[in-house]
Amino acid sequence: MAKPSTTYDQVIRRTPTMPRTSATRQRLALPPARRFAILTCMDARLDPAKYAGLAEGDAHVIRNAGGRASDDAIRSLVISHKLLGTQEWFVIHHSDCGMQLFTGEIIGDLLEDNLETAQFDGKAWSNPKHGGGSIAGHFVHWHTFADNAKSVTEDVQRIRSHPLVPSGIPIYGFIYDVKTGKLNEVAEATAAGKARA
Ligand code: ZN
Repeated sequence: MAKPSTTYDQVIRRTPTMPRTSATRQRLALPPARRFAILTCMDARLDPAKYAGLAEGDAHVIRNAGGRASDDAIRSLVISHKLLGTQEWFVIHHSDCGMQLFTGEIIGDLLEDNLETAQFDGKAWSNPKHGGGSIAGHFVHWHTFADNAKSVTEDVQRIRSHPLVPSGIPIYGFIYDVKTGKLNEVAEATAAGKARA
């Protein structure tokens, strides 16, 4: 395997970048200064600026439920590279992700019954109210998953094999541990995302 890049080293050691003063902030360019992008989950416990040591202007952060490589996440990554020059990408899922607590069928059924916030008792979801739902939820691909390491690897593979993603961009796969704050690399994902000459 090729020697990991400087960016890779800085992210996993979360090397702190200089805090930006308002004067330096005004000089920030549109393209990310450290030329990398992160795809991660929207979970409120994750702060990518902290876990990857980012300051304003450093990197692109693309977030959705699960940090999944959906068509829209790939749209952002392609823009990030093609128009804004990022050269390395990190896919970062996390422990205790809410996306592991339901399936497409479960959320589809809940929404068909009622649209208000459902309850979770630790085992199952239920609606406190009934009526007024929609079957539209059964037509959405919710991108849920059961196995964290597998989902990161699948997402890296999906991005790697996308026709609009150049083969020279390395894609690394990680799971962030919400209890310890550690970034744990998923070797199989990073191997799948290795840059090809
Ligand atoms: Zn999550």
